[in-house]
Amino acid sequence: MIFAEDLNLKAMSRGMLCKHTLDAAFGQFLNILKFVCWKKDVFFAKVNPNGTSQTCPMCLEETGKKDLSQRIHYCQFCGYKTDRDHAAAEVIRQRGIELISTQGLCGMETACAVGLPGARETSSRSEAKPDSRKGGRKTRNTQL
Ligand SMILES: [Zn+2]
Repeated sequence: MIFAEDLNLKAMSRGMLCKHTLDAAFGQFLNILKFVCWKKDVFFAKVNPNGTSQTCPMCLEETGKKDLSQRIHYCQFCGYKTDRDHAAAEVIRQRGIELISTQGLCGMETACAVGLPGARETSSRSEAKPDSRKGGRKTRNTQL
């Protein structure tokens, strides 16, 4: 399973980090990652990106905004201390697991892979099975 933040890349490319956002090609990276996950039958989903770096992964309390220079997550409520990016990754993982384990909450439109046990019965997943895969490969071959 792979979870990523559902970032608003258009808005980011207009903001303070404009050039860096475009240089890093996050959108292209996420599209390739999504395709590879689909091809390898790995579950991939985008999760709500709001406050991932401002939430403590241990106690889920809001810890407030951090400057980009502040690299350590320290929770004043439970005392959990770790790398800032690691803490955000833990929050993203928790949100992803919550997304797929809460009935009715799973965003099938954002979940492209088909390997998740118990999820094959839904119509959106069966549509993504072999027939559409062949179509996807044909499209790719014509581009080469
Ligand atoms: Zn905490």
